[in-house]
Amino acid sequence: MSAASFCAFTKTIDNSISACRLLRSPVCPLQGSQMNLSERISSIPPSATLAITAKAKQMQSEGIDVISFGAGEPDFDTPQFIKDAAKTALQAGDTKYTPSCGAALREAIASKLARENGISVAPSQVVVTFGGKNALYAACQVLLDPGDTVLVPQPYWVSYPEMVKLAGGRPVFLPTGPDSGFKINPEQIIEAADQAKILILNSPSNPTGVNYSPRELRAIAEAVLKTNLLVFSDEIYEKLIYGDAEFASFASLAPGLADRTLTFNGLSKTFSMTGWRLGWVAGPQEPISAIARFMSHATSSPVSFAQAGALAAYTCPEAPKTIEAMRNEFARRGGHMAERLNAIRDIRCIEPTGAFYCFPDVSDHYGTKLGGIKVTNSASFAAAALDEAKLAMVPGAAFGEDRCVRLSFATSMEQIDEGLDRLAKLLC
Ligand code: PMP
Repeated sequence: MSAASFCAFTKTIDNSISACRLLRSPVCPLQGSQMNLSERISSIPPSATLAITAKAKQMQSEGIDVISFGAGEPDFDTPQFIKDAAKTALQAGDTKYTPSCGAALREAIASKLARENGISVAPSQVVVTFGGKNALYAACQVLLDPGDTVLVPQPYWVSYPEMVKLAGGRPVFLPTGPDSGFKINPEQIIEAADQAKILILNSPSNPTGVNYSPRELRAIAEAVLKTNLLVFSDEIYEKLIYGDAEFASFASLAPGLADRTLTFNGLSKTFSMTGWRLGWVAGPQEPISAIARFMSHATSSPVSFAQAGALAAYTCPEAPKTIEAMRNEFARRGGHMAERLNAIRDIRCIEPTGAFYCFPDVSDHYGTKLGGIKVTNSASFAAAALDEAKLAMVPGAAFGEDRCVRLSFATSMEQIDEGLDRLAKLLC
């Protein structure tokens, strides 16, 4: 793939916005179609992370030796005991609709929240959804009216701003950067809270790999309690915590927080179940019941036998040992990747304390030429890496931070070493 075609690919996102704008003209320019797409979808680009992963897979299938650091999913298979539980359910005829919020799994999630997270909810305060993404989307739909403002720490997971916009809301970004360890401070919340309805927190974070300590979260909680903000706490990387880092569930940190916090989680990352599409949201009864109503029309119910697998994941005694083995391997890889990145000329990388991403600042290379490509931003840096080194990574611009690129370490140690050898050679 040529540099030019990769640059074109990384521009897909911008182009898709322009293309969609065209689609809003009274007669659709698509040949033979009279279809006018909604205004809502017209400003929404496709997910950059999914697009880049798909592109790397496509190049690999064409026989090109691409190393992909693009993946947002664990490279481990789903643990066998979870697959067995789903298979048993399937064989036993568990193939029908379940209640729209999920069945026995809701109870297992309520127990897990009490046991592990210090959050006390009834099963009726949990909705099981098609992945955590679906839960966040549904929550935006039921809580946002046109023009409502949502505070989004920046850099952010690609889908937050788009979900907010799809619900008619307006994302307002709380900037952070490498100097602040990619963490917001309580003052930023107080300053921005006046007109805002919701604050989104994501710890550990995609894309930064940064985890807020319980003390830092308590300081944020204090600020939140001085406002009228609701909080979406996206805890999908809860179990992927490294070194001395400690995880804490936001809703558990101070009295009163549980009444204004929706906790989001899912099975994709913890149990390596991305393809099973199971996530959930728990919180105060009123918004949860509204999400349940929304889901009853939007999806009917999550997949019946997948729920049986998830039930095993949350209840089997062997689960903690299995999770721990995956966590240890991610910890080893993350430390190694950050160390190797920091050894490369003019790259600075904060060591990840959670999730499975390194988010190095590569901006000292902007203004230089890498191979045949003039590098001016994160998209052209990623283009040069792919074209010259056959190395796929996600430009930080997709997450609102153009100084950085995101490299996933959800891949083998051999691939990490080979990929970083290539990057070091390119940047030497
Ligand atoms: N939140 C964050 C921060 C994520 O990175 C992801 C997946 N990339 C999700 C939510 C959603 O994951 P899923 O829909 O697979 O549960």
